[in-house]
Amino acid sequence: MLLNKLHSSLPDTNIKENWPLSSLTTLGTGGTAEFFVSPSSPEELCEILQAFKGCPVHVLGGGSNVLIPDGLTPGLVISTRKMNSISWLGIRTAEIGAGYSLPVLLKEVCSHGLGGLEFAAGIPGTLGGAVCGNAGAGGLGVCELVDSVKAVDPSGSVRTLGRDEFSYGYRRCSLSGMGLVIVSVIMTFRDARHGDEEEYSRFMLKRENQPLNARSAGCTFKNPEGYSAGKLLDECGCKGLSVGGAVVSDKHANFILNTGNASSSDVLELARLCAQKVHELAGVVLEPEIRTLQPCFFLS
Ligand SMILES: Cc1cc2nc3c(=O)[nH]c(=O)nc-3n(C[C@H](O)[C@H](O)[C@H](O)COP(=O)(O)OP(=O)(O)OC[C@H]3O[C@@H](n4cnc5c(N)ncnc54)[C@H](O)[C@@H]3O)c2cc1C
Repeated sequence: MLLNKLHSSLPDTNIKENWPLSSLTTLGTGGTAEFFVSPSSPEELCEILQAFKGCPVHVLGGGSNVLIPDGLTPGLVISTRKMNSISWLGIRTAEIGAGYSLPVLLKEVCSHGLGGLEFAAGIPGTLGGAVCGNAGAGGLGVCELVDSVKAVDPSGSVRTLGRDEFSYGYRRCSLSGMGLVIVSVIMTFRDARHGDEEEYSRFMLKRENQPLNARSAGCTFKNPEGYSAGKLLDECGCKGLSVGGAVVSDKHANFILNTGNASSSDVLELARLCAQKVHELAGVVLEPEIRTLQPCFFLS
């Protein structure tokens, strides 16, 4: 009934009801969205937000750092994946859709004779998700390359935020707590340098100790100041621990894998057990790096 009403007010938008989300994540767990939509432009997203009333709004990028709750996620889940255009504004500067794939962006940047994104080698997901968590490696992160961000607020208006309007650090960016859907990002890259290719290979080589062919959401925990979370988890005997269909990788203790039939509750419970072991045996508190899908904002 509500879906029919929405379809008549948004005739060109394909809104799905009770839509399964697990296949939209790299971990492959979790339930369904009450309503799911994948707008192709910021304008379409604004129209959708204006048509929906009184419900929570969640945002899903590439689903590579997120745990979808089991059961029903109430309200609207927006996938950014179709907002994936890129336009070059100058020789080194581009406006890139939030749904643009980070691995594809890395190739695009290289093909333009530019550099600065080598550290992103092997990081899956979209640019919007990468900005939200300042994704990166080796002390580097994508936010460093951002000039400004366009984002849609709960009233369905587009805002532009310059880099002085948000802060970021190790695996965090203040944009992610501001109740905004990032729709595009303006980034400036640097000219390619001798050694960029070696840098790229160096980052790819580091991935050899990660279980890249298995279903995971990347590192479960952030590295606590002065420690490697993976090493702590390994030393505390977490490798091979399992709950239901979720198991701690034998290759890298900071990766929880879905062996086929894991639920998100299995993953959460296993992460809790691992954190408890590290706290009891090493006295270190681990902070999750994987995020549970939560409302970005509520529509009034
Ligand atoms: C094998 C593997 C290796 C990985 N290695 C690394 C690594 O080396 N370094 C690293 O930093 N990460 C790594 N990750 C984690 C993940 O790939 C990154 O964090 C990635 O940038 C997440 O992007 P995403 O589009 O998948 O975001 P999602 O998982 O879809 O979302 C992450 C969070 O951002 C929010 N979000 C997403 N898009 C938007 C938007 N447009 N507007 C507002 N909110 C949004 C979501 O609501 C959610 O809270 C790895 C993951 C895997 C599976």
